[in-house]
Amino acid sequence: MRALVYHGPGQKAWEEVADAEIAHEADVIVRVDATTICGTDLHILAGDVPTAHPGLILGHEAVGVIDEIGDDVRRLRVGDRVLVSCVSACGACRFCREGRYGQCEAGGGWMLGHRINGTQAEYVRVPDAESSVYPIPDGVSDEEALMLADVLPTGYEVGVLNGGVRPGDVVAVVGAGPVGLAAVACARLFSPSHVVSIDHSDARLKKATEFGADVCVNNAHDDPAAVIRDLTGRLGADVAIEAVGTPETFELAVRLVRPGGRIANIGVHGKPVLLHLEEQWTRDITITTGLADASSTPTLMRLVANGQLNASRFITHHFGLDDIERAYDVFSDPASGALKVVLTRSEDEGDEEDDEQDEASEW
Ligand code: NAD
Ligand code: ZN
Ligand code: ZN
Repeated sequence: MRALVYHGPGQKAWEEVADAEIAHEADVIVRVDATTICGTDLHILAGDVPTAHPGLILGHEAVGVIDEIGDDVRRLRVGDRVLVSCVSACGACRFCREGRYGQCEAGGGWMLGHRINGTQAEYVRVPDAESSVYPIPDGVSDEEALMLADVLPTGYEVGVLNGGVRPGDVVAVVGAGPVGLAAVACARLFSPSHVVSIDHSDARLKKATEFGADVCVNNAHDDPAAVIRDLTGRLGADVAIEAVGTPETFELAVRLVRPGGRIANIGVHGKPVLLHLEEQWTRDITITTGLADASSTPTLMRLVANGQLNASRFITHHFGLDDIERAYDVFSDPASGALKVVLTRSEDEGDEEDDEQDEASEW
């Protein structure tokens, strides 16, 4: 089979590799029909994730059909169409029993495309499959389901649920990349009074409006704290969600909340970040952190199936799987306007689409 292999910082290749095989009886092999690239894959390629070793097949999001099952797999069948989540779960350890799959202590957590071979391949082995893949109901397309592998659960769980968004809240979301936009869209599910999107890119802010932000602030030239003070009678936001991962944007999120407010950090931080407790200790703030658990996947799947959440809105570009190296170039170029790129199995020629801007999603 062919796969996208990481060969150390700055190096990757779409190449022939050994076929994915059942290694444990709880595994399944999934034929990958659609996969995508995440900003975290770029972090691995930049050498920022030392736990990812050269020789690794990248990718932690996929939709496909089960091709083979281990002897212990009872609730899945060959031929089932499933979502392969970014987080695998043993289903039995203390953390899995609390739905904290991201913290799984028994071979789960973020495994695919990190500690074991991932989804940017023709086939992928998924461990502990019964608790790590999700059957996709009729009425949810492969592309919609693919957005439930990482970006939507991350924005929903680590941003909106950890931030405790409630009806009537003013929610500030710092960063309008795919994850920040997922937080904007999921915050809307809770009827906040305002969702304020903050980014230094006007193109991203334009997207934020489509995802449900009613106030957009370009912090390259406007002060988000002043805008939010005006919006809230000088109090500050009820919830600030950090979806960038830099010291400046975290400090900004802290400055934006009212006394008693909640700051939900989603961003992956590569550098130490200052928390100004000398200013904040009297303000009753709550700060949460987290790795996505993807425990909300069934809920989000229902919301997508019912049309309450538009998952296809994230998708800006399409490529054939064989064309993945070009897809990486486009995805990593800020000028391309890419949010999420979809790579589809290119076995049947004619299925391949070009990387032109998405011509109208079907929903
Ligand atoms: P992205 O890089 O596509 O988007 C980041 C956005 O932040 C961009 O729109 C950029 O213009 C904006 N930005 C950068 N610097 C800024 C600044 N100083 N002020 C205002 N805006 C600024 O990233 P993404 O894929 O949306 O992911 C966002 C973060 O979430 C990343 O740090 C990613 O690693 C992290 N993440 C965390 C988890 C988790 O489980 N906690 C899961 C997935 C992703
Ligand atoms: Zn990811
Ligand atoms: Zn577990």
